[in-house]
Amino acid sequence: MPARILDGLKIRDEIFSELKSDIAKLHAQGIRPGLAAVLVGENPASQLYVKSKIAACEQLGMASWLHTPPAGVSTDYMLQLVRDLNADDNVDGILIQLPLPSQIDSKRVLESVDPAKDVDGFHPVNMGMLVSNRPGLVACTPAGCMEIFRHNKIPIEGANAVVLGRSDIVGKPMALLLLHANATVTICHSKTRDLPDVIRRADILVAAIGKAGYVQPDWIKPAAAGKPGATVIDVGTNKVTDAGEAAQFLRNFPERLEKFHAKGSVLIGDVHPDAIQVAGALSPVPGGVGPMTITMLMSNTVKSARLRRGSNAAVARRP
Ligand code: NAP
Repeated sequence: MPARILDGLKIRDEIFSELKSDIAKLHAQGIRPGLAAVLVGENPASQLYVKSKIAACEQLGMASWLHTPPAGVSTDYMLQLVRDLNADDNVDGILIQLPLPSQIDSKRVLESVDPAKDVDGFHPVNMGMLVSNRPGLVACTPAGCMEIFRHNKIPIEGANAVVLGRSDIVGKPMALLLLHANATVTICHSKTRDLPDVIRRADILVAAIGKAGYVQPDWIKPAAAGKPGATVIDVGTNKVTDAGEAAQFLRNFPERLEKFHAKGSVLIGDVHPDAIQVAGALSPVPGGVGPMTITMLMSNTVKSARLRRGSNAAVARRP
Protein backbone atom coordinates (compact mmCIF):
# COMPACT_ATOMS: atom_id res chain seq x y z
CA MET A 1 0.00 0.00 0.00
CA PRO A 2 1.45 3.42 -0.87
CA ALA A 3 2.52 5.70 1.98
CA ARG A 4 0.17 8.13 3.67
CA ILE A 5 1.06 11.54 2.27
CA LEU A 6 2.10 14.14 4.85
CA ASP A 7 0.69 17.21 3.15
CA GLY A 8 2.58 20.37 4.13
CA LEU A 9 0.22 22.67 2.23
CA LYS A 10 -2.74 21.49 4.28
CA ILE A 11 -0.87 22.02 7.57
CA ARG A 12 0.29 25.45 6.37
CA ASP A 13 -3.35 26.43 5.79
CA GLU A 14 -4.34 25.21 9.26
CA ILE A 15 -1.49 27.09 10.98
CA PHE A 16 -2.12 30.22 8.90
CA SER A 17 -5.69 30.26 10.07
CA GLU A 18 -4.53 29.95 13.73
CA LEU A 19 -1.96 32.69 13.14
CA LYS A 20 -4.60 35.00 11.65
CA SER A 21 -6.59 34.75 14.84
CA ASP A 22 -3.42 35.24 16.97
CA ILE A 23 -2.57 38.33 14.94
CA ALA A 24 -6.10 39.72 15.30
CA LYS A 25 -5.75 39.44 19.09
CA LEU A 26 -2.41 41.26 18.94
CA HIS A 27 -3.94 43.97 16.71
CA ALA A 28 -6.61 44.48 19.34
CA GLN A 29 -3.79 45.34 21.77
CA GLY A 30 -2.26 47.78 19.27
CA ILE A 31 0.51 45.37 18.23
CA ARG A 32 1.19 44.60 14.56
CA PRO A 33 3.83 41.89 14.27
CA GLY A 34 6.47 42.85 11.71
CA LEU A 35 9.25 41.14 9.78
CA ALA A 36 12.24 42.94 8.25
CA ALA A 37 13.91 41.01 5.44
CA VAL A 38 17.39 41.83 4.19
CA LEU A 39 18.24 40.66 0.69
CA VAL A 40 21.76 41.52 -0.50
CA GLY A 41 22.39 41.56 -4.26
CA GLU A 42 20.29 40.00 -6.99
CA ASN A 43 20.41 36.22 -6.61
CA PRO A 44 17.20 35.10 -8.42
CA ALA A 45 16.53 32.13 -6.08
CA SER A 46 16.94 34.36 -3.00
CA GLN A 47 14.71 37.03 -4.58
CA LEU A 48 12.02 34.39 -5.06
CA TYR A 49 12.30 33.12 -1.45
CA VAL A 50 12.14 36.61 0.03
CA LYS A 51 9.21 37.56 -2.19
CA SER A 52 7.20 34.60 -0.92
CA LYS A 53 8.07 35.47 2.71
CA ILE A 54 6.89 39.06 2.24
CA ALA A 55 3.74 37.80 0.49
CA ALA A 56 3.02 35.52 3.46
CA CYS A 57 3.33 38.52 5.84
CA GLU A 58 0.85 40.45 3.71
CA GLN A 59 -1.55 37.50 3.57
CA LEU A 60 -1.53 37.33 7.38
CA GLY A 61 -1.86 41.08 8.01
CA MET A 62 1.66 41.46 9.38
CA ALA A 63 3.97 44.39 8.67
CA SER A 64 7.02 43.76 6.50
CA TRP A 65 10.00 45.71 5.31
CA LEU A 66 12.39 44.71 2.56
CA HIS A 67 15.97 46.04 2.59
CA THR A 68 17.93 45.37 -0.61
CA PRO A 69 21.53 46.55 -0.28
CA PRO A 70 23.66 46.11 -3.43
CA ALA A 71 25.86 43.00 -3.81
CA GLY A 72 29.06 44.92 -2.99
CA VAL A 73 28.17 46.09 0.55
CA SER A 74 30.63 45.58 3.40
CA THR A 75 30.29 43.71 6.68
CA ASP A 76 30.27 47.08 8.49
CA TYR A 77 27.32 48.25 6.40
CA MET A 78 25.42 45.07 7.28
CA LEU A 79 26.27 45.38 10.97
CA GLN A 80 24.92 48.96 11.02
CA LEU A 81 21.73 47.87 9.23
CA VAL A 82 21.19 45.08 11.76
CA ARG A 83 21.85 47.53 14.64
CA ASP A 84 19.14 49.84 13.22
CA LEU A 85 16.67 46.94 12.89
CA ASN A 86 17.50 45.72 16.40
CA ALA A 87 16.69 49.21 17.72
CA ASP A 88 13.38 49.55 15.83
CA ASP A 89 10.59 48.43 18.15
CA ASN A 90 8.17 47.85 15.25
CA VAL A 91 10.45 45.10 13.93
CA ASP A 92 9.79 41.77 15.68
CA GLY A 93 11.72 39.53 13.32
CA ILE A 94 14.91 40.04 11.29
CA LEU A 95 15.58 37.76 8.37
CA ILE A 96 18.97 37.88 6.66
CA GLN A 97 18.53 35.94 3.43
CA LEU A 98 21.44 33.56 2.88
CA PRO A 99 23.83 33.11 1.20
CA LEU A 100 25.48 36.52 1.64
CA PRO A 101 28.19 37.61 -0.85
CA SER A 102 31.63 36.26 0.07
CA GLN A 103 33.12 39.61 1.20
CA ILE A 104 30.58 39.74 4.06
CA ASP A 105 31.36 37.97 7.33
CA SER A 106 28.05 36.07 7.51
CA LYS A 107 28.65 34.64 10.98
CA ARG A 108 29.35 38.09 12.46
CA VAL A 109 26.25 39.54 10.81
CA LEU A 110 23.98 36.70 11.98
CA GLU A 111 25.39 36.90 15.50
CA SER A 112 24.69 40.65 15.62
CA VAL A 113 20.92 40.03 15.31
CA ASP A 114 19.10 40.52 18.62
CA PRO A 115 18.33 36.93 19.74
CA ALA A 116 14.79 38.09 20.60
CA LYS A 117 14.30 39.00 16.90
CA ASP A 118 16.18 36.00 15.47
CA VAL A 119 13.16 34.43 13.75
CA ASP A 120 15.41 32.07 11.77
CA GLY A 121 16.63 30.57 15.06
CA PHE A 122 20.27 30.65 13.88
CA HIS A 123 21.74 32.75 16.74
CA PRO A 124 23.98 30.82 19.17
CA VAL A 125 21.78 32.02 22.05
CA ASN A 126 18.72 30.39 20.48
CA MET A 127 20.73 27.28 19.58
CA GLY A 128 21.81 27.09 23.22
CA MET A 129 18.22 27.44 24.40
CA LEU A 130 17.31 24.53 22.14
CA VAL A 131 20.16 22.38 23.44
CA SER A 132 18.95 22.92 27.00
CA ASN A 133 15.29 22.48 25.98
CA ARG A 134 14.28 25.96 27.04
CA PRO A 135 11.81 28.18 25.17
CA GLY A 136 13.36 30.21 22.35
CA LEU A 137 13.12 30.74 18.62
CA VAL A 138 13.72 27.44 16.80
CA ALA A 139 15.05 27.09 13.23
CA CYS A 140 12.08 27.09 10.87
CA THR A 141 12.64 23.93 8.79
CA PRO A 142 13.08 21.50 11.72
CA ALA A 143 10.29 23.25 13.62
CA GLY A 144 8.12 22.71 10.53
CA CYS A 145 9.00 19.00 10.49
CA MET A 146 7.83 18.74 14.11
CA GLU A 147 4.52 20.33 13.08
CA ILE A 148 4.18 17.68 10.36
CA PHE A 149 4.60 14.97 13.03
CA ARG A 150 2.19 16.71 15.40
CA HIS A 151 -0.57 17.39 12.88
CA ASN A 152 -0.40 13.79 11.61
CA LYS A 153 -0.19 12.29 15.11
CA ILE A 154 3.03 10.43 14.31
CA PRO A 155 4.24 8.84 17.57
CA ILE A 156 7.75 10.03 18.45
CA GLU A 157 8.29 8.90 22.03
CA GLY A 158 10.48 5.79 22.08
CA ALA A 159 10.79 5.73 18.28
CA ASN A 160 14.14 5.11 16.58
CA ALA A 161 14.69 8.34 14.67
CA VAL A 162 17.47 8.78 12.14
CA VAL A 163 18.42 12.29 11.03
CA LEU A 164 20.42 12.22 7.83
CA GLY A 165 22.53 15.40 7.69
CA ARG A 166 24.09 17.48 10.49
CA SER A 167 23.90 21.08 9.28
CA ASP A 168 23.36 23.85 11.84
CA ILE A 169 20.12 24.90 10.17
CA VAL A 170 18.43 21.52 9.65
CA GLY A 171 20.12 18.33 10.90
CA LYS A 172 21.37 19.41 14.34
CA PRO A 173 18.25 21.29 15.50
CA MET A 174 16.08 18.47 14.05
CA ALA A 175 17.96 15.88 16.09
CA LEU A 176 17.57 17.98 19.26
CA LEU A 177 13.83 18.46 18.73
CA LEU A 178 13.34 14.71 18.25
CA LEU A 179 15.48 13.99 21.30
CA HIS A 180 13.41 16.39 23.43
CA ALA A 181 10.31 14.58 22.15
CA ASN A 182 11.84 11.37 23.59
CA ALA A 183 12.91 9.65 20.39
CA THR A 184 16.13 7.62 20.34
CA VAL A 185 18.09 9.69 17.85
CA THR A 186 20.92 8.74 15.49
CA ILE A 187 22.57 11.49 13.47
CA CYS A 188 24.17 10.41 10.18
CA HIS A 189 26.54 12.34 7.93
CA SER A 190 28.96 11.85 5.07
CA LYS A 191 31.34 9.74 7.19
CA THR A 192 28.67 7.39 8.59
CA ARG A 193 29.43 3.72 7.93
CA ASP A 194 26.79 1.26 6.70
CA LEU A 195 24.25 4.02 6.14
CA PRO A 196 21.57 1.77 4.57
CA ASP A 197 21.64 -0.50 7.64
CA VAL A 198 21.35 2.43 10.04
CA ILE A 199 18.40 3.81 8.07
CA ARG A 200 16.72 0.37 7.96
CA ARG A 201 16.33 0.50 11.76
CA ALA A 202 14.56 3.88 11.65
CA ASP A 203 10.90 4.25 12.58
CA ILE A 204 11.33 7.91 11.62
CA LEU A 205 13.74 9.16 8.97
CA VAL A 206 14.43 12.85 8.32
CA ALA A 207 16.60 13.24 5.22
CA ALA A 208 18.44 16.55 4.73
CA ILE A 209 21.60 16.10 2.68
CA GLY A 210 20.96 17.90 -0.62
CA LYS A 211 21.44 14.84 -2.89
CA ALA A 212 18.58 14.02 -5.27
CA GLY A 213 16.96 10.63 -4.69
CA TYR A 214 19.90 9.39 -2.58
CA VAL A 215 17.92 7.32 -0.04
CA GLN A 216 16.84 4.12 -1.78
CA PRO A 217 13.41 2.53 -1.23
CA ASP A 218 14.97 -0.69 0.12
CA TRP A 219 16.74 1.27 2.91
CA ILE A 220 13.37 2.17 4.41
CA LYS A 221 11.75 0.00 7.07
CA PRO A 222 8.66 -1.62 5.48
CA ALA A 223 5.40 -2.48 7.18
CA ALA A 224 5.70 -5.66 9.26
CA ALA A 225 3.67 -7.54 11.86
CA GLY A 226 0.76 -5.12 11.67
CA LYS A 227 3.07 -2.10 12.13
CA PRO A 228 3.22 0.52 9.35
CA GLY A 229 6.44 1.26 7.49
CA ALA A 230 8.74 4.10 8.57
CA THR A 231 7.67 7.73 8.57
CA VAL A 232 9.88 9.60 6.12
CA ILE A 233 10.33 13.37 6.14
CA ASP A 234 12.14 14.50 3.02
CA VAL A 235 13.72 17.92 3.54
CA GLY A 236 15.82 17.86 0.37
CA THR A 237 14.92 20.16 -2.51
CA ASN A 238 17.11 19.34 -5.48
CA LYS A 239 16.46 20.75 -8.93
CA VAL A 240 17.05 18.01 -11.52
CA THR A 241 17.53 19.16 -15.11
CA ASP A 242 19.16 16.07 -16.65
CA ALA A 243 16.63 14.07 -18.72
CA GLY A 244 18.24 10.69 -17.95
CA GLU A 245 18.25 11.36 -14.22
CA ALA A 246 14.65 12.60 -14.32
CA ALA A 247 13.59 9.46 -16.24
CA GLN A 248 15.25 7.25 -13.62
CA PHE A 249 13.66 9.06 -10.65
CA LEU A 250 10.24 9.35 -12.23
CA ARG A 251 10.02 5.95 -13.95
CA ASN A 252 6.85 5.20 -11.97
CA PHE A 253 5.42 8.73 -12.17
CA PRO A 254 4.56 9.31 -15.85
CA GLU A 255 2.59 12.51 -15.17
CA ARG A 256 5.51 14.11 -13.33
CA LEU A 257 7.88 12.98 -16.08
CA GLU A 258 5.64 14.61 -18.66
CA LYS A 259 5.76 17.85 -16.65
CA PHE A 260 9.55 17.57 -16.54
CA HIS A 261 9.66 17.35 -20.35
CA ALA A 262 7.43 20.42 -20.64
CA LYS A 263 9.37 22.49 -18.07
CA GLY A 264 12.93 21.17 -18.32
CA SER A 265 13.36 20.68 -14.58
CA VAL A 266 11.81 18.91 -11.62
CA LEU A 267 12.26 19.12 -7.84
CA ILE A 268 13.40 15.83 -6.33
CA GLY A 269 13.91 15.26 -2.60
CA ASP A 270 16.79 13.43 -0.94
CA VAL A 271 14.66 10.28 -0.93
CA HIS A 272 14.00 8.33 -4.11
CA PRO A 273 10.35 8.94 -5.18
CA ASP A 274 9.73 5.14 -5.30
CA ALA A 275 10.02 5.11 -1.48
CA ILE A 276 6.32 5.95 -1.51
CA GLN A 277 5.70 2.21 -2.06
CA VAL A 278 7.55 1.22 1.15
CA ALA A 279 7.18 4.00 3.71
CA GLY A 280 4.23 4.15 6.08
CA ALA A 281 3.99 7.92 5.71
CA LEU A 282 5.97 10.32 3.54
CA SER A 283 6.28 14.07 3.07
CA PRO A 284 6.30 14.78 -0.67
CA VAL A 285 8.68 17.04 -2.56
CA PRO A 286 7.36 19.53 -3.45
CA GLY A 287 4.47 20.21 -1.06
CA GLY A 288 5.83 18.67 2.16
CA VAL A 289 8.50 20.44 4.21
CA GLY A 290 8.88 23.44 1.86
CA PRO A 291 5.61 25.22 2.78
CA MET A 292 6.26 24.49 6.47
CA THR A 293 9.50 26.51 6.52
CA ILE A 294 7.76 29.79 5.60
CA THR A 295 4.89 28.90 7.92
CA MET A 296 7.24 28.58 10.89
CA LEU A 297 8.95 31.86 9.97
CA MET A 298 5.55 33.55 10.27
CA SER A 299 4.84 31.66 13.49
CA ASN A 300 8.22 32.70 14.96
CA THR A 301 7.57 36.36 14.07
CA VAL A 302 4.23 36.29 15.87
CA LYS A 303 5.85 34.52 18.83
CA SER A 304 8.61 37.11 18.93
CA ALA A 305 6.04 39.96 18.85
CA ARG A 306 4.18 38.38 21.76
CA LEU A 307 7.30 37.77 23.86
CA ARG A 308 9.07 41.04 23.08
CA ARG A 309 6.09 43.31 23.51
CA GLY A 310 4.78 41.55 26.60
CA SER A 311 1.41 40.71 25.09
CA ASN A 312 -0.83 38.61 27.25
CA ALA A 313 -3.12 37.75 24.32
CA ALA A 314 -4.25 34.14 24.56
CA VAL A 315 -2.82 32.86 21.34
CA ALA A 316 -2.35 29.34 19.98
CA ARG A 317 0.98 28.05 21.26
CA ARG A 318 3.03 25.72 19.19
CA PRO A 319 5.90 23.93 20.89
P1 NAP B 1 24.14 21.18 4.08
O1 NAP B 1 24.46 22.32 4.97
O2 NAP B 1 24.83 21.07 2.76
O3 NAP B 1 24.40 19.83 4.90
C1 NAP B 1 24.30 18.59 4.29
C2 NAP B 1 24.54 17.50 5.31
O4 NAP B 1 24.36 16.26 4.66
C3 NAP B 1 25.94 17.49 5.90
O5 NAP B 1 25.87 17.23 7.28
C4 NAP B 1 26.63 16.34 5.17
O6 NAP B 1 27.57 15.62 5.94
C5 NAP B 1 25.47 15.42 4.90
N1 NAP B 1 25.72 14.58 3.73
C6 NAP B 1 26.06 14.98 2.48
N2 NAP B 1 26.20 13.91 1.67
C7 NAP B 1 25.95 12.83 2.42
C8 NAP B 1 25.94 11.42 2.17
N3 NAP B 1 26.22 10.94 0.97
N4 NAP B 1 25.65 10.58 3.17
C9 NAP B 1 25.36 11.04 4.40
N5 NAP B 1 25.34 12.38 4.72
C10 NAP B 1 25.65 13.25 3.73
O7 NAP B 1 22.59 21.10 3.74
P2 NAP B 1 21.30 21.70 4.51
O8 NAP B 1 21.34 23.19 4.47
O9 NAP B 1 21.11 20.99 5.80
O10 NAP B 1 20.17 21.24 3.48
C11 NAP B 1 19.95 19.90 3.16
C12 NAP B 1 18.88 19.79 2.09
O11 NAP B 1 17.68 20.33 2.59
C13 NAP B 1 19.16 20.56 0.80
O12 NAP B 1 18.58 19.86 -0.29
C14 NAP B 1 18.42 21.85 0.99
O13 NAP B 1 18.04 22.45 -0.24
C15 NAP B 1 17.21 21.35 1.72
N6 NAP B 1 16.52 22.37 2.52
C16 NAP B 1 15.20 22.50 2.32
C17 NAP B 1 14.49 23.40 3.07
C18 NAP B 1 13.02 23.53 2.84
O14 NAP B 1 12.43 24.49 3.28
N7 NAP B 1 12.40 22.55 2.17
C19 NAP B 1 15.13 24.19 4.03
C20 NAP B 1 16.48 23.99 4.24
C21 NAP B 1 17.18 23.07 3.49
P3 NAP B 1 28.95 16.29 6.48
O15 NAP B 1 28.56 17.13 7.65
O16 NAP B 1 29.77 15.11 6.87
O17 NAP B 1 29.52 17.07 5.34
